[in-house]
Amino acid sequence: MERIVVVGAGQAAGWAVSTLRQEGFQGEIHVVSNEHQIFYERPPLSKQVLSKEASYDSLNLFSPEQIDAFSVQWHKPDLATQIDRDHKQVILESGKILPYDKLLIATGSRARVPVNTWKNISNVVTLRDVQDCERLANLLETAKSIAIIGGGWIGLEIAATARKQGKQVHVFEYAERLCGRSVSPEVSEFLKEIHEQQGTKVHLNSKNLHLIESLDQTVQVLNHPETAETFDCVVVGAGAEIAKELGVSAGLAVKDGIVVNCYGQTSDVDIYAAGDVAIHPVLGYCIQSWANAQNQAIAAAKSMLGVATEYSDIPWLWSDQYQFNIQILGTYQAQSNPKLIIRQSSPAQLSYLYLDEHNRLMNLIAVNDAKLVKLAKRWIQNSTILDPKLLADPEFNVMKLKP
Ligand SMILES: Cc1cc2nc3c(=O)[nH]c(=O)nc-3n(C[C@H](O)[C@H](O)[C@H](O)COP(=O)(O)OP(=O)(O)OC[C@H]3O[C@@H](n4cnc5c(N)ncnc54)[C@H](O)[C@@H]3O)c2cc1C
Repeated sequence: MERIVVVGAGQAAGWAVSTLRQEGFQGEIHVVSNEHQIFYERPPLSKQVLSKEASYDSLNLFSPEQIDAFSVQWHKPDLATQIDRDHKQVILESGKILPYDKLLIATGSRARVPVNTWKNISNVVTLRDVQDCERLANLLETAKSIAIIGGGWIGLEIAATARKQGKQVHVFEYAERLCGRSVSPEVSEFLKEIHEQQGTKVHLNSKNLHLIESLDQTVQVLNHPETAETFDCVVVGAGAEIAKELGVSAGLAVKDGIVVNCYGQTSDVDIYAAGDVAIHPVLGYCIQSWANAQNQAIAAAKSMLGVATEYSDIPWLWSDQYQFNIQILGTYQAQSNPKLIIRQSSPAQLSYLYLDEHNRLMNLIAVNDAKLVKLAKRWIQNSTILDPKLLADPEFNVMKLKP
């Protein structure tokens, strides 16, 4: 009987397993996971679950009945430590050896902590999984003040959640603007404004941070040469480290993440990778987003079964902060000097559209405008030539601009 081994049990792994069964794969599926909770999505961890508006169970991708029907052989909690490509087997920390016909690496990424010693400070935490969320939620029950190191999406979402709970919040960002790796300077400024309006103190250019634990477990954040303040807890939201080590040690082609083609196949024809750990086959770097993990995994699972399915989705991710649902479509490329159109329909609904020299949409940041995102996806897919004047006119119904 054919056997597929999946390493990881997050968003990508869950969708891969579900797809394998939906496509009629009758062989054995073995899943290795170093986490207890399996097949769950992470976005609510910094939003509704952290604020206790949703339960941990709501994270599950599938019902217990669906998971039973997948008929998976579980290896958890266990860690895949090595891939022996010559013998087509995966070696686990427990000593188990799992032979495979096809292997999917869906190991995702981990929270990055820029200074190793910070990991030893009691009230300094990160947010990647359910346990991290439980720990942070516990700290927030009593904390009055919180420092967030990193002004990226996760850091800002935690800032919003903590402010809504009435905490005193400071965000320390290394770069000169917020979310600088994924959005334009104008959007960074918008983000800064909404957080400052809510009372969060944003410290940009915080390049020299030191954390000092006090006897009462509060943490002093020295932001040299600017400030020194004490906080009840510190969250490090300083990006992610791609969990690519299995690919590296197995000698697969690896860059930022594991290199895959549009079918999710690595440089070894029997090994696939999907989700945060795999590069985007068109863009050439890792896209760490929910939709990417799901759709790249679905395509890889079908391709594993011989139904060659291309994955080349336009990057899309969202973030929820206060009353704002922010969706990002496409990528911002400063070097191509894009033309900016701002479309503001109401104080709470606005969009930043970046067009190339032919007036084709390259990147959209839509605030509280999900309908526009749907339409814009088709504009990008079809390279639709747009009229900047019409886009900027809030009275004009953009739905008339057919892709
Ligand atoms: C707090 C938070 C909020 C987010 N919010 C958003 C959002 O609003 N919008 C959005 O688009 N994206 C968001 N993301 C990103 C999104 O959740 C990830 O892109 C997605 O989870 C990636 O899925 P994955 O399956 O590739 O990896 P993961 O979900 O990380 O799953 C990988 C699993 O593999 C396990 N593993 C790793 N190595 C091994 C090994 N050697 N052996 C066994 N198991 C292993 C890991 O422990 C993990 O359980 C958020 C992420 C976080 C952490």
